[in-house]
Amino acid sequence: MKPVLVLIGRSNVGKSSLFNRLTRSRNALVADFPGLTRDRNYGDGKFGTKHFLIVDTGGFEPKVKENLSSKMEDQTIQAVIEGDVIIFLVDAKEGLTQTDFSINEFLRKRSKKVILAVNKAEGMNHDSVRSDFFELGCGIPYLISAAHGDGVKDLLDKALESASKLGDQVEKDTFNNKNIRIAVVGKPNVGKSTLVNSLLGEERVVSFDMPGTTRDSIEVSFEINKKKYTLIDTAGIRRRRKVFEIIEKFSIIKTMQSITGANVVLLLLDAKEKISDQDANIASFIFDSGKSLVVGVNKWDSINSEQRLEIKSNIDRKLSFLNFVDFHFISALKSNGFKKMFNSIDNAYICATRKLSTPKLTRVLHDAVEHQPPRRKGSIRPKLRYAHQGGQNPPIIVIHGNSLNFIDLSYKKYLEKRFRETFSLIGTPLKIVFRKTKNPFDKKE
Ligand code: GDP
Repeated sequence: MKPVLVLIGRSNVGKSSLFNRLTRSRNALVADFPGLTRDRNYGDGKFGTKHFLIVDTGGFEPKVKENLSSKMEDQTIQAVIEGDVIIFLVDAKEGLTQTDFSINEFLRKRSKKVILAVNKAEGMNHDSVRSDFFELGCGIPYLISAAHGDGVKDLLDKALESASKLGDQVEKDTFNNKNIRIAVVGKPNVGKSTLVNSLLGEERVVSFDMPGTTRDSIEVSFEINKKKYTLIDTAGIRRRRKVFEIIEKFSIIKTMQSITGANVVLLLLDAKEKISDQDANIASFIFDSGKSLVVGVNKWDSINSEQRLEIKSNIDRKLSFLNFVDFHFISALKSNGFKKMFNSIDNAYICATRKLSTPKLTRVLHDAVEHQPPRRKGSIRPKLRYAHQGGQNPPIIVIHGNSLNFIDLSYKKYLEKRFRETFSLIGTPLKIVFRKTKNPFDKKE
């Protein structure tokens, strides 16, 4: 399982700069969703061979607690409880503030592994900065510059050493199993447990739901349409012991962890409720992680035809960036719609792992350019020469040519659409990478 690092600190200390630096390799996928405006606060990171998850707790301000929505603060506390290592960020230029002391107090009470990172330390006298921050009693302060990258490697080495979990193992595990690995995610109360119960039967859910096993990946196989699948992890899946059980809190970290171990993620939405930002955020995290997605709109049995139209138009508006994902309208309670939904799961996985031939990719590229060439930038027009597949699961298409840095996002989206349509790539993320063609006559290269 990937270790979870949690960034905490007051506003403006540079949490999001550090977050962006640590998740940069994934940014291309993230930036590719037009219409999705959000603060990215949880992501997938890779450093050398180590994989990890990272959470930016964003607006933690104990002093102005009254102004924060209580939900936000819940999520922060929960992230601290569930994270493996907390990176506590302070500001070298401003020195220690009252808020820093409050955060420190908050962390001390939770007795978690905390690493102190002093940001914006570029160009400062390290010894005197260090002695300024020793006072917090968080051990040796790590001096960094999130904006320039100084010291970030040492900080991360330390954090991952402290977490010393199996960050290396994750990617391998995901593909070792022959069955398609499925994670069921969604907000509390959408019907995840009911769905799993319908798929596995009550008896097996009980063992799936054993206490004390939350940190280890649990898996169980089941059969549908005469095909075997593996259901992984337990983000919010449990047997309801009492009818009036308190609704559990939504856990970003548990959701992230189940997503990273899956091949295909089944995201459940509640047909009785409006689509929320949280639904959209989970969906985009799934794609950021390179996983395939199928959406089940649950409790379809419980609403009338007027409400059905309403929720469909709500989905069209709020989740328009998922226009290449299959949606199924199901009832977990009555086991309706499962067969087709699992066909989509199969298909999403097939699409994610499909081999795309160089000649065909190049032909699609040339057709696309002929139909609509990229815009000029001054006197320069980007030249797209050929394309090949740079990776599978998810598919990566590498496009070679010249002046490709002038290609804008909308043109990239246009190319993606052409590739998706030609190869019928449904439910999988698709990454397009531009690479400059080497000039064989240029001796300098
Ligand atoms: P979880 O928190 O996502 O695991 O949600 P649960 O599976 O515990 O379901 C929450 C509530 O929704 C329960 O009262 C279920 O009986 C109900 N529910 C789940 N699926 C359906 C469905 O397909 N139709 C209807 N009508 N109710 C459902």
